[in-house]
Amino acid sequence: MSNQLPRRRRAKVEKALEEMENPLGALKSNKKPKTHRFARTRTKAAEMRTIRFPLLETSMGDPWPIRVTVIHGAKPGPVLTLLGAVHGDELVGPMALTHLLGSSFCGPDKPLDPNSLAGTIRVVPVVNLPGYRMRSRYFPDGRDLNRESPGTETGNTTSRVANRIFQNIILGSDYVIDLHTAARGRTNLPQIRADLADAPSNAIARGFGIEVILDSLGPRGSFRRSANEMGIGYATYEGGGANTSDAGAVQVALYGILNVMRSLSMISGKPSRPSARLLAHGSTWIRADQGGLLDMRAPAGRFVEEGEVVATITDPERPGATANVLSPSRGLLICTATNPYVNSGAPVGHLLPIHRGIRAVESMLDSNRQLVPSGTDGEPPWREETEVDEIQVEGEWVAGNVDGGWHIELNSPPSTVSAEEEAAES
Ligand SMILES: [Zn+2]
Repeated sequence: MSNQLPRRRRAKVEKALEEMENPLGALKSNKKPKTHRFARTRTKAAEMRTIRFPLLETSMGDPWPIRVTVIHGAKPGPVLTLLGAVHGDELVGPMALTHLLGSSFCGPDKPLDPNSLAGTIRVVPVVNLPGYRMRSRYFPDGRDLNRESPGTETGNTTSRVANRIFQNIILGSDYVIDLHTAARGRTNLPQIRADLADAPSNAIARGFGIEVILDSLGPRGSFRRSANEMGIGYATYEGGGANTSDAGAVQVALYGILNVMRSLSMISGKPSRPSARLLAHGSTWIRADQGGLLDMRAPAGRFVEEGEVVATITDPERPGATANVLSPSRGLLICTATNPYVNSGAPVGHLLPIHRGIRAVESMLDSNRQLVPSGTDGEPPWREETEVDEIQVEGEWVAGNVDGGWHIELNSPPSTVSAEEEAAES
């Protein structure tokens, strides 16, 4: 039964690809764009403005006003929304989007000049403002904003905020790119997660121009899941780790966003493409068989062989003894543990097993057998879509969730969760 799943999934993905031929469809017209309305504020065509949007509708207490910048193009086109820090301690989004709104990209004759832009860009560098201030992924009530969507007006605090964001920021978008990092205790190779059977999501996932795409539904309660249910194309970018600054992951995010805008014809220029693309429908986990202190030998992005030592474990109670953690398969490490405390059974690495297209993958590795994502250092090259080698990675996700093999997420207030418990889903 489970063996039939990937094939059925693949047929769905191929159907979505056919629908993708013209992802903009009816959006393309010769009509002049009207004013863009966001939260009772109108932005005229060829105008850029920043609006303060309160996460809570209150007259007493802190309503947590977040910055939403609207760039409304002179030409008609899709509405693309860019989100950062839905998890307050995942800083790749705030860094990339702040840079995007700076003088390198905004202003006369720059890529995001509203006079030449087709469509509308809405940029929210910090969605979870209270979490960001507390340096926590969670909301002050200990809940995960990305598990409460679409939320309700009368529910708990996080549910109310999720509802405001979903109603005002997610709805009204044609496409959303949501920037994340791995949760605390691990780090991600830059990657895109999207439901490839959903045509608009498929379009922006491929349009991002990245090597690794994980074909999956968003977790229950995630903005991705509820946006897809409303027909909105949604891609989640994951790069680096929480509470750290990762210049490479920020750079890849910026190039990816510009690539999506180019592939949707919102800005001029040809989108760049990787030489090969991994479309993964499942994965394998590397687990510790001993407890102690972990020393990762193979970082995220390493292409490993079956039986290769990816980590070693030592125990202060057993000086001189070392346990090796071996890779069960040849493949690409897409996420590795950074928290050294492990027990037997603890996940230390997340692997895409690769049995086909080895040569195409190897052509993208550096001398350390490390995949360096296109755009990490300098402008990535332009290629025709037909020149991209696509490699399918068959399989399943643990519990239907990309991060299902990591530690179970606990909705505890941040001040009381331990480092390991906080290693929740990114
Ligand atoms: Zn996250």
